[in-house]
This record gives sequence, structure tokens and C-alpha cells, in this order.
Amino acid sequence: MTVYLDMDGVLADFFGGIEIKYGVDHWKSIQDREIKFKELANTNFFHTLPIFREDRGPRRAGASISCEIIRFVNKISDGDWGICTSPLRGDTMNSAYWKRRWLEDKHYMPPLVENLIITSNKHKYAWNAITRKPNILIDDKPDNIKRWTEAGGIGIRFQTNEDDLEEYLFVELEKAIERARTFEFKNKV
Ligand SMILES: [Mg+2]
Repeated sequence: MTVYLDMDGVLADFFGGIEIKYGVDHWKSIQDREIKFKELANTNFFHTLPIFREDRGPRRAGASISCEIIRFVNKISDGDWGICTSPLRGDTMNSAYWKRRWLEDKHYMPPLVENLIITSNKHKYAWNAITRKPNILIDDKPDNIKRWTEAGGIGIRFQTNEDDLEEYLFVELEKAIERARTFEFKNKV
């Protein structure tokens, strides 16, 4: 059983990065958003993303929430955790490179490098065929959670700038780990 963490919306403040890049207070005030997102291709944008901090104001100060998530996940999973993130559409190689660089610079690389998964098909990692145990995904996108659970995994929908850490994420994760560890595979006859 491996606990996978999504990057954008969970560890990396994607929209905060957009606001910094375009000098706006809120990303929703950007005109032609589709075009602007396409402009991210072939840039180091993913390397510039801020982490989540207690204070989301212009100073972006305070304790690192992203770091707290990593620390908790590392402890509760006994180091069996990874990253499961999607590349930018149409910019797979380049965005994957800068995402990896970001993780290295923040010291957020998982203990096993093969647990850094950059894929548009996260659900392929929902299930461990050798141990026959479900893996866990923490992700802000409902569609990713839906596909993950449909493929046999355990999903926790979580968005760092909206949901509570101690009262929601950590509680749900403890429950999910218990479920995964005690999961009994039954052959379909
Ligand atoms: Mg995300």
C-alpha cells in the first residue's frame, strides 16, 4: 500500500503561481484563461510555484503546510509514499522535468524515486497487483478521485487552501490506511 500525493492544489499552489506570473490578485480576474494556460508550455512555470503556507496573503509567510503534509504522510505510511501528478497537456516532457526539479529543490522527493509518477492516467496506480492491496490517492480533483476509486483504490479529495489538515485530512488518511492494510482480496469466481 502506497500513499500518493497529488502536486497542484495539494503541495504546489498552482493558482498562486498563476497570480504571481500575471500580477493579479485572483486568477479568476485573468482574461482568456485558456490562452494563458497554454502559454505555460515550454516554460519553467512549474518550477516557480509557491508551496502552501499558513498565510496566503501577499507576503506568503508562515509555516509551510505543504511540508506538514509530507511529514505526516511519511510518518503514517512508514515512508511508503509517492507523488502522482499529471503533466501539462501538450507539454509532457518539459512540465515533468520542472515538476521533478521543484520536488528536489523543496526536498519533497519520495524515498523511492520510482514512486514519483507523472502520468495522465493516475488510476493505473490505484491497485497493487502483487500485494493485492489498494493504494491511496490524495488529490483535489474530484474526477481523479472518481477514476481512482473505480479502479480499486482509496481516494481522499483534499484541497490544501480549503480543507482542514488536522481535522479532515489526517483523520481521513488514518482511516484509509487502516482500510488498506486490513483489506482482504477476494477472487471473483
Ligand atoms: Mg491537483
